[in-house]
Amino acid sequence: MSLLDELNPMQRKAAQITEGPLLILAGAGSGKTRTVIYRIAHLLKDCGVKPYQILALTFTNKAAGEMRERIARFDIPHTGDMWMGTFHSVCARILRIHAQAAGFLPSFTIYDETDAKAVAKACLEASGISEKVIDAEKLRSAISRAKNSAVSPEDFPSEYADMYRARELGRLYADYQARMKESNAMDFDDLLFNTYRLFRKEPSILEHYQDRFLHVLVDEYQDTNRLQYEIVAMIAAKNRNICVCGDDDQSIYGWRGADIRNILDFEKDFPNASVVRLEQNYRSTSDILDTANGLIAHNRGRKGKNLWTEAGKGEPVHILESGRDLEEAERVASEIEKQTSRGMKYSDIAVLYRTNAQSRVIEEALIRANIPYQIVSGTRFYDRLEVKDIMAYLRAAVNPWDEVSFLRAAGAPKRGIGPGTVEKLKDYASFKGISLGEAARDAQNVPGLSVAAREKITAFAELLGEISPLSEERGLGEAVKEVIGRSGYTDYLRASHPDDSESRIDNLNELINAAADFQQTSEDTSLNAFLENAALIAGIDTVDEKEGQVLLMSIHNSKGLEFRCVFVVGVEEGLFPLSRASQEPSELEEERRLCYVAMTRAMEVLYMSFADQRRQYGVTRPSLPSRFLREIPSEYTEGPESGSGRYSGGNSSYTADLERRMREKRNVFAPTAVAAPKKPSFSTDTFNVADRVEHPVFGTGTVIDVNETGTKRILTVAFAGLGIKKLDPGKVELKKTGEQGQAGER
Ligand code: ATP
Ligand code: MG
Repeated sequence: MSLLDELNPMQRKAAQITEGPLLILAGAGSGKTRTVIYRIAHLLKDCGVKPYQILALTFTNKAAGEMRERIARFDIPHTGDMWMGTFHSVCARILRIHAQAAGFLPSFTIYDETDAKAVAKACLEASGISEKVIDAEKLRSAISRAKNSAVSPEDFPSEYADMYRARELGRLYADYQARMKESNAMDFDDLLFNTYRLFRKEPSILEHYQDRFLHVLVDEYQDTNRLQYEIVAMIAAKNRNICVCGDDDQSIYGWRGADIRNILDFEKDFPNASVVRLEQNYRSTSDILDTANGLIAHNRGRKGKNLWTEAGKGEPVHILESGRDLEEAERVASEIEKQTSRGMKYSDIAVLYRTNAQSRVIEEALIRANIPYQIVSGTRFYDRLEVKDIMAYLRAAVNPWDEVSFLRAAGAPKRGIGPGTVEKLKDYASFKGISLGEAARDAQNVPGLSVAAREKITAFAELLGEISPLSEERGLGEAVKEVIGRSGYTDYLRASHPDDSESRIDNLNELINAAADFQQTSEDTSLNAFLENAALIAGIDTVDEKEGQVLLMSIHNSKGLEFRCVFVVGVEEGLFPLSRASQEPSELEEERRLCYVAMTRAMEVLYMSFADQRRQYGVTRPSLPSRFLREIPSEYTEGPESGSGRYSGGNSSYTADLERRMREKRNVFAPTAVAAPKKPSFSTDTFNVADRVEHPVFGTGTVIDVNETGTKRILTVAFAGLGIKKLDPGKVELKKTGEQGQAGER
């Protein structure tokens, strides 16, 4: 029996087209990912292809891991030699190998958005341009957009001639790139952009990968951007064995630069491409599938497809109506209990929402009902303030050119090494042609420093110098532990964050465990590999389905996954679709695709739920059912089923116990809790997204974002009737009210 017997005839056909460009274009749950897996297994087992000749690009690292595992189950040796991962992780790997040719050292640091914003800020400060004209956020997004469209700083002004202040932005972009290079650092977009540039500049390196990767496969191709397209097109240009699969109806990352044209134009981009369409859905019952098909039929910009299933009708799609968002959460909890009493496991169930802020009320209801859950948050463990502080030591140790990490580590705890001192070190370093770290070690000879400063810098540099040898001799976990101990960081935490220092210390212990685990489970156990893993890991990569917990996540995170039972909550106008999307036809279509993705995650039971009133930005407003609910064909749905009674919890349900349990739960995946600076002139409170706060002039509002750059923290607060304000809790009088609110996303 051939392994391809486990595919249907169309899937088999796709798996057997082993030469030339191939597009598998098919709807949700039709077995695209399965076909890719079997196609790889077939290439390896039956066609003489070696694992190292395979390059497979997936949307998450977790998906790549699962793919590798499933292929290994076909008794194929050396599956570890296949290159599988996200575009970012594969590009990072290429750049480490060819760092020098790309103009970097192999120890380059990967900057996250916070680090990148700090660099953007420094560029703006140096340029003298007021933040009112161009702020760091605007600069970052212009740079990101340029990179993802493969536009260099030199070409920026002509490419974006109609953009406001294009010439200045081009200059700032050039300065930003120069600073990144000086710090031997790359931001996320650089991983792709520098790979692209490397391939263009060094044809021999490109040729090496063209020869090596006989087969290139890309899953979820509808969400690739222009730069990603350019990279795979270059690698596959010689052998032309490129297989992409995707669904134009599931393109949901347009806001991040994904270009749906990549999939729509595949046949143009790769002449003589074979196209296979899969039409049988294996995931969902027919009521779920027909409802989802009925919704997506309202989109115009699509190829159109026919998707059917042999699975029975199943249960109709449940439409739930609740009085308030709190009541909706209670309904979800009670329906979950109903499903589990019928034999569903908690881990078979997922609750999906449009914005992360919606998770809070659901969490509360699940805790009250004693339902175990896992939350996949946009904010990662490694984004937490204290974790980032300790990681900064490791990063500065591995990459002594890394200015952002050096400054961050030097300031936590404070040692009197500020930007002024670092400027002097940098001048000395560039004069001597050495790194910032080396200059620090040579502090005794750096002009313009006080004796005390010299001593502090030398001690700090010595600590950094010991980290790499320590990690080699005693392992990663021990090295992290030593850094925490020797830096005096825990005392600093206790003094600077008295309210929640213990839970922050727990996170640091978790970091020690993470480092030790990494050492045990990874092939490359270097400090550098650990840092890279931490930089590239996403919230969804850390989910453990075996835990027997209901999963809570944004719809964006649910891509490619499936669950026996799915709740889509907050299906209301203004929330889903988001209000600004209602004005713009292309954005509305993307929201509809998002809704299609959410619905098609369900195998057996699907709930779509809305509330008549929802609290957003601190005020409770009436809400209307989403137009999507009107668009779906009613013959496959049941409801709206109204709640059996009004929400009974009321405001008094905020018990201390509940708050404590929420905190415990949110420890790992929760949004970063950020406190005011060490010696604030005003508030010493810790602020989280969705906290209710009081301002002497603006009144009460809801925190909708907590942004931290270096030691600076800025809260974005929505005040009813006044709009959104950005406030520094160290400078303005801001008090927490103890009440909780709702916040939006993006
Ligand atoms: P999405 O568009 O959501 O990414 P997909 O097209 O990648 O979906 P898969 O996840 O590969 O679809 O498959 C959906 C489900 O159907 C999986 O559980 C898969 O194992 C099952 N499936 C697909 N094809 C077959 C088949 N020929 N026989 C049995 N089960 C199948
Ligand atoms: Mg898939």
